[in-house]
Amino acid sequence: MSRRSMLLLRRHAPRAVAAFTRRLSNARAEPQFLHLAPSGDFWIGSKIYAAKHNPSDYVRSLPLPIGQVIPEDCPHEALVKMYDNKEVDAEQLRPAWSAGDPTAAVVPPGLCQLTDEFSDCTLEERTWVSDDSFVVRFGLPDSSQPLNLSTCACILAGHEDNVRPYTPISTNALTGSFELLVKAYANGALSQRLATMEIEEKMPFKHIQFNVKTQYPFSAKKVGMLAGGTGITPMLQALHAILGSPDDETEVSLVYGSKTSDGILARETLKEWEAEEPWRFRVTHVVGGVIGEDHIKRHMPPPEEDCVFFICGPDLMYNALCGPRGDPEVTGLLKKLGYSKSQVYKF
Ligand SMILES: Cc1cc2nc3c(=O)[nH]c(=O)nc-3n(C[C@H](O)[C@H](O)[C@H](O)COP(=O)(O)OP(=O)(O)OC[C@H]3O[C@@H](n4cnc5c(N)ncnc54)[C@H](O)[C@@H]3O)c2cc1C
Repeated sequence: MSRRSMLLLRRHAPRAVAAFTRRLSNARAEPQFLHLAPSGDFWIGSKIYAAKHNPSDYVRSLPLPIGQVIPEDCPHEALVKMYDNKEVDAEQLRPAWSAGDPTAAVVPPGLCQLTDEFSDCTLEERTWVSDDSFVVRFGLPDSSQPLNLSTCACILAGHEDNVRPYTPISTNALTGSFELLVKAYANGALSQRLATMEIEEKMPFKHIQFNVKTQYPFSAKKVGMLAGGTGITPMLQALHAILGSPDDETEVSLVYGSKTSDGILARETLKEWEAEEPWRFRVTHVVGGVIGEDHIKRHMPPPEEDCVFFICGPDLMYNALCGPRGDPEVTGLLKKLGYSKSQVYKF
């Protein structure tokens, strides 16, 4: 009802308005239920009572606390989990995190605001995106400039005597700060520090020549990406450049290994980017297993094609697929399948 007709009604029929308003407030106070269909559709409504053709045979319903809002893009897995646990967990209802649209903001190496000496960056924000991973935004020393990190390259974070590489998921389109997607490991020196430090606290970061990898535009028509866990972040950086450049015809196949389906990092982003341009970007998830010969033969370009491979993940993954990260030689599965040293980049 428009504001004008409401005013008219109020002037001419005060009793009718009172009844109407009461109905509205009653409706609001009535307990609401979250209904989940096997198809994955969900909606909010009043209780579904038993009937001859009882829809509750196949629709699950959960009472919602008064005032509880379910975002439209709430992850489906979160709803299923809530039904299984029989309680609404507001934390679980956060919309799935996404890195946004692919953005090519590529600069050449040598311009990064962080140098080979550690500089303090201030933690501005932390957003948990799953049970054990989060996005942190750090303010840069020069707030008027972007990070200006080349693609592909990473930065180093230091805490006490520990130094670890991280690849920002933000691009140089962001001025004054950068963002990291981090997975917290139970006893992880750096990841625990990043997970628990207070907003406004400082973390030292630097960037060294060794952190500069193969540069965009990449040298081949096809790119095969093999990533495990947090090894997805260098791939996101490369994908920003490729998919964010409309004239780039590089075809990318990503095989991404995760321990559990809940643990798939940047899942929504990958889904969105693949749906946007399936002819340029295809994703295959390997959940709870290892990336093996079959995945490479089925989803990756064969060695005789004009292709390069980007690899990033846990040590065991490097060892099995291409040989240790620090070893410039290519061994393991990729060697066995005929790929050469010049085709394989270990991030
Ligand atoms: C090029 C590059 C880019 C990277 N970018 C990112 C990034 O953007 N975000 C991010 O979160 N991480 C990234 N990493 C991994 C990161 O550098 C650290 O290894 C990770 O954060 C763990 O460090 P830590 O100090 O917390 O754990 P550590 O103190 O090193 O280890 C603690 C425990 O966690 C286990 N563990 C550590 N790392 C892994 C792993 N990868 N898989 C399984 N178990 C592990 C160890 O076995 C150990 O038991 C990147 C690594 C590389 C090589």
